[in-house]
Amino acid sequence: MSAIQAAKGTRDIFAPEIHAWQHLEGAIRDYYGRYLYQEIRTPLFEHSELFSRGIGDQTEVVQKEMYTFRDKAGRSLTLRPENTASVVRAAIENNLFEALAPLRFFYIGPMFRYDKPQKGRYRQFHQFGVEVFADDAPQVDAEVIFSAVDFLRGLGIAQVQLELNSVGCPNCRPAYLKVLRQAAQARSADLCEDCRRKIDGNPLRIFDCKQHACAGIAAAFPVIGDHLCPECREHFAAVREALSWMNVPFLLNPRLVRGLDYYTKTAFEVTSGQLGAQNALLGGGRYNDLIRELGGPDMAGIGFAAGMERLVLHLEHLAAPKPKVLFVATADPRWLAHAVQLAQVLRSEGHPVYVDYQSKNLKKQFKKADRIAAAFTLVLAEDEVRDGAVSVKNMATQEQVKIPLKDLNAWLKQNT
Ligand SMILES: [Zn+2]
Ligand SMILES: [Zn+2]
Repeated sequence: MSAIQAAKGTRDIFAPEIHAWQHLEGAIRDYYGRYLYQEIRTPLFEHSELFSRGIGDQTEVVQKEMYTFRDKAGRSLTLRPENTASVVRAAIENNLFEALAPLRFFYIGPMFRYDKPQKGRYRQFHQFGVEVFADDAPQVDAEVIFSAVDFLRGLGIAQVQLELNSVGCPNCRPAYLKVLRQAAQARSADLCEDCRRKIDGNPLRIFDCKQHACAGIAAAFPVIGDHLCPECREHFAAVREALSWMNVPFLLNPRLVRGLDYYTKTAFEVTSGQLGAQNALLGGGRYNDLIRELGGPDMAGIGFAAGMERLVLHLEHLAAPKPKVLFVATADPRWLAHAVQLAQVLRSEGHPVYVDYQSKNLKKQFKKADRIAAAFTLVLAEDEVRDGAVSVKNMATQEQVKIPLKDLNAWLKQNT
């Protein structure tokens, strides 16, 4: 029979790579705990409408990349392509606005997009992200952005660079879109087919086009920064000022627009020159209308999401701390009960312990101990059991010492 393979765009994660994932997840929990963020876990699938309303009908994600299916009752469900809409939905549904304060969430988990798989990019991929629901004080933007940059640096990622823009608000964006549409219309013959379609729908998306010709043309298009309303302009200036208090250098990128429709005002991306062409590590921004549009109170929000696969690629070289494994070997099945009980005690004291149940050939058991990289093999044989002791063999030096069981824990504390 032919073996079944994982679905295209998915992959298995196991040791040693899994250590980098665990390290990253631990670092997220630790770091964001210091800012009073609480973890939230939302379902992997939601009603499709949440994403078409939340992310925007005209976005690439909703139009092309969603895993949407009907369940047996005929409901349209979608595997979450991102997590912000779900977190907002969860806060509204559970009325967390009343119950949890401050409203600061982080999440870690898989997302799903029907995208072209390539190196480091999967259809089931992982993101961690944060969401802050509060007023739209510009210092909140700066704190969120600072935390993103500081967290990445703390992981040891070098050449971290922050790009910043304001994408305006419903007061100023429509007028800007009109100007942008006119400019795009004038060059429509030279734009790719995809971009021509975006002119009427969402011309901002033209700035995302990877085609060289389109990028060149879009470089001459008007930018939102010249069309911001006074409120957006002031907010953006205050964000930049607060970033300077925090000593976060940034690059203004007037063509930075985010791929999802819900962003207002601040938008940002963090890249690392260390990671080559596909260097975007995380992106986010403010979404002041999303909570209200999804049926919640009139409350502002800001957040970002980071691709974990890329972070893990970077972290993989970190050697995982290796616990000293103890291997319990018995020379005769008669001592198996002693072995099992010894292992129980050792594990309760915090040691990783493997018991071998072959209990015949000691030489074979030593070989096995080597294969699982045990630091010590604890041998129970006639003499040891009679004397209430155990022989401990150091697998690296081959030295063996006999230690009374009552002294074993103290000895291991000194030697592991
Ligand atoms: Zn505005
Ligand atoms: Zn294009």
